[in-house]
Amino acid sequence: MKTAIYDILMSGRNPDEAFSDARFFALCISHRAMERKGNISMALGLETRQLRHLFSRYFPQIEESRSTAQCTKVYLHSAAGGTFLCQCQGKENKAPARDEETGDLVKLLLDHRAGVHQATEWVAAILAAGCLGNDHLWQDLGLTSREDLSDIIKHHFPGLYFKNTGNMKWKKFFYKQLCDQAEVRLCQAPSCAVCHDYAQCFGPEDANGWNLLAAQG
Ligand code: SF4
Repeated sequence: MKTAIYDILMSGRNPDEAFSDARFFALCISHRAMERKGNISMALGLETRQLRHLFSRYFPQIEESRSTAQCTKVYLHSAAGGTFLCQCQGKENKAPARDEETGDLVKLLLDHRAGVHQATEWVAAILAAGCLGNDHLWQDLGLTSREDLSDIIKHHFPGLYFKNTGNMKWKKFFYKQLCDQAEVRLCQAPSCAVCHDYAQCFGPEDANGWNLLAAQG
């Protein structure tokens, strides 16, 4: 069903918008649409009005063909030929919880953006919300590989992309930046080169689940 929702989104995408951004948004939206509980805006880290705006800009056919009162997940599933039991409990319009951690991550990303674009702000919010998950960031976002994630970071936040010279795992890298900015040192070792946790921070982000909390010990 996730693939079917992705296909529905991409088949009605706005050809005037960048394909790479549309693909990123479609992958993230279709991934979040599979979650049984919670509203999709909150899971994506977007306010409902932002998600509607994203739909109308990137996937106008979807936005035009659904009723404003309809749960987004219910609509996406039915448009893709399936059914979905809504468990939003009428909270589809509730604003996302913008806790301090998420806000700091969004600010970190936007401080390194390529330009002032609305799409970049949406990508930043989605990446920050994804950082709250327990697996590799690309997995929590519903992307197909780390390369997908690296490409979108390079495009929207080149300052951060080129700063990650050691190919650090993206979640680890973002949180390391926040620690460095706040001059907080959580690492036990004096440097990465002599750290016993090196493999937790660097190396391939393959499809084997990786639990950030467990990695942080
Ligand atoms: S490898 Fe060790 S020292 Fe380097 S960021 Fe990770 S935990 Fe900190």
